[in-house]
Amino acid sequence: MPDQPLTVIRKIIHIDMDAFYASVEQRDFPEYRGKPLVVGGLPQGRGGVVATASYEARKFGVRSAMSSKRALQLCPDALFVRPRFAAYKQVSEHIREIFSRYTDLIEPLSLDEAYLDVTNDKLNIGSAIDIAKQIKQAIKDELNLTASAGVSINKFVAKIASDINKPDGLKFIGPSGIEAFMEQLPVEKFFGVGKVTAQKMKQMGLHTGADLKRLTEDEMTRNFGKPGRFYYQIVRGIDNREVQPHRETKSLGAEDTFAYDLTTLPEMEVELDKIALTVHNRLLKYELKGRTLTLKVKYSDFKQITRNQSFTTAFNDLETISKAARQLMAATNPGEDCRIRLLGISLSNFGDIVPRHKEAGPGDQLALGL
Ligand SMILES: [Mg+2]
Repeated sequence: MPDQPLTVIRKIIHIDMDAFYASVEQRDFPEYRGKPLVVGGLPQGRGGVVATASYEARKFGVRSAMSSKRALQLCPDALFVRPRFAAYKQVSEHIREIFSRYTDLIEPLSLDEAYLDVTNDKLNIGSAIDIAKQIKQAIKDELNLTASAGVSINKFVAKIASDINKPDGLKFIGPSGIEAFMEQLPVEKFFGVGKVTAQKMKQMGLHTGADLKRLTEDEMTRNFGKPGRFYYQIVRGIDNREVQPHRETKSLGAEDTFAYDLTTLPEMEVELDKIALTVHNRLLKYELKGRTLTLKVKYSDFKQITRNQSFTTAFNDLETISKAARQLMAATNPGEDCRIRLLGISLSNFGDIVPRHKEAGPGDQLALGL
C-alpha cells in the first residue's frame, strides 16, 4: 500500500483507443478509409470471429466477438482483413511511452487500454481533465489515431466514463456526480457482473443501480455469493482497487482435484463446466480477455497433459470457455480405462502484454492473489 492517507481523493484516467485494430489498418492502408472494415477471422473460414469493426461497419450492427459470417450478412460490402498484431503492439508501446510522460502508475489492460493514476501530477499540469486532453492530443499528433478518456476518482467509474462519448471522447465524472450516475446504470454495466448474474438480477426485478441499492450487504452476498459485497460497494461508487503498474498476469485459470476419479466424458464435461464458470468469473473480476485456452488433465497415475487452442479474438465469455474446454477434452479421446484425477482450464495471451520484470515459468498464475 502506498503511504498516502485514505482521505486523498485519487485521480484516475482510463484511456481506450477507438476501434483500435481497425483504426490502425485504416491509418496504414488508405484504401480502407471510410469503408466498413472488419479485422478478424475471414467469413470463408471456419469459426472466424470479428476482433474489431471500423465505425463504418458498426453502423450495420457489426460488433466484436460476432462471427465473421454474421458480420458479412449484416454488411455485405464489408472488407475483411486478418489482424497484424506486430503492428498493433508497436503502436501500443508508443502509447505507453506517451502515458509514462504523465505518470509512473500505468496499468495496461490490453494493447489499447490502460488505467493511469495521475494523483501525483508528474508535470504539474493541475487537473486530471487537462492531463487526459494532453494525452489524447499527443496520441493524435504522434500516431494519427484517436483515443477516448474517462476521468474520475476510481477505476470503475473512469472505465465506464471512457465509453460514454466514444469515439474521440472525454468524460469527467466527479465525486458529486457519481451517485446519480450509478443509479441510472444498467446492472450489466456493473463491475464483475457477467451475463449469468445480470440475468438473475433481472429476474429479481433489479435492472439499474438504483434497484441494486435497495439491497442490504447481507442480501447481496446471500443472492450473489462473494461478489455481492463488490456490487454493494460499487453501486455506492466505492472502488478502492489500486492502479497496479506491474501487473504481470500471463495466465489465469482454475483447476479442481476430484475425490473420485472421473471415468466418463459426461462426468468430465460437468466438472469442466463448473471450472469454466470459476474461470469466467475471475476473468470478469480482473477485466481480462485471453486468446488462448489451455486444458490441463492429470490422470490417476499422475501423468499430466495439456492441450490448447488459440483464437483470433480475445474472449472471456462462459459459452466460449466451456465449448473450447469440452472440445479439447473430447479430443484427448478418454477411453474406457481412463481415470482422471484433476482438470484445469486457463486463459492466456491477454493482448500480448509483455511482463517488464520477469518471465513467467510454466503454469505460473501470477500476482493475482486469488
Ligand atoms: Mg478500444
